[in-house]
Amino acid sequence: MIEQYEAKSILTATGGFLATYTHSLNAYQGCAFGRNSCPYCYVRAMPIQRFSGAPWGEWVKAKINAPALLRREIEHAKKKGLFGRLRIFMSTATDPYQGAEAGLKLTREILQVFHESGDFGLLVVQTRSPLIERDMDLISALGGRVAVSLTIETNREEVRRQITPTSPSIERRLETLAKLTRAGIRTQAAISPVLPCDAEEFAVLISARANRAVVDTLIDGDGACGRRSAELGMQRILASYGYQDWMTPEAHLPLLDALRNRMGIARVGFSQDGFNLL
Ligand code: SF4
Repeated sequence: MIEQYEAKSILTATGGFLATYTHSLNAYQGCAFGRNSCPYCYVRAMPIQRFSGAPWGEWVKAKINAPALLRREIEHAKKKGLFGRLRIFMSTATDPYQGAEAGLKLTREILQVFHESGDFGLLVVQTRSPLIERDMDLISALGGRVAVSLTIETNREEVRRQITPTSPSIERRLETLAKLTRAGIRTQAAISPVLPCDAEEFAVLISARANRAVVDTLIDGDGACGRRSAELGMQRILASYGYQDWMTPEAHLPLLDALRNRMGIARVGFSQDGFNLL
């Protein structure tokens, strides 16, 4: 059941790990990909989930007036001379291409608003969903002002089935990444967080399909030096599959090295800084 409601605003001033962005944009609250999946998702520990009254992944609310709000807030930014400096991360607490988007098309309408609005700074679209292919026409038309960051945590399909079973298959996401890159769209593979994987094989797959990559970990990327991941039970979950060695400060290093060897240091970011695209 998708609840629809009218929000009061759509651009949220940001900071923290997204230091180079001015705003985040979440057209949805909740995320259906999280249903018995994405156990590391830090939104699980945020007030929006704690007070939701339902398990994470089992509720989604759509801000049905998000495109209209964006149009209004862009006009406001233009009047203040700030529009050209807008750097927006979509999304920080949901996936803009989760299942509900197939019917509601809020994310598509948002891209349309940006397309009609002129020259803003940067829009980064963060998703794990091949549904983004539907909007390649608009994303291509926006040119270098948009970058797509596609989450792929591992190259091992059995790991995906164990830890993120509601996510699209690895093969399907790699295909999406390749399609976007071939279309001339700026792409980033977000290996975030790194899950058990084969470093060299994974680096070969990513380097052939993405313009750049960012590697993040359960310890460096949770904003609390691993405490939040621990509270979410990640050590126990990984250990239950025999992956206890993957929540250490060094576990990601072979993959980071392999990617940097293939793509060059400038094209491979690490942890929170790595998400701050130029
Ligand atoms: S897709 Fe992203 S926002 Fe959604 S549950 Fe997974 S990690 Fe959380």
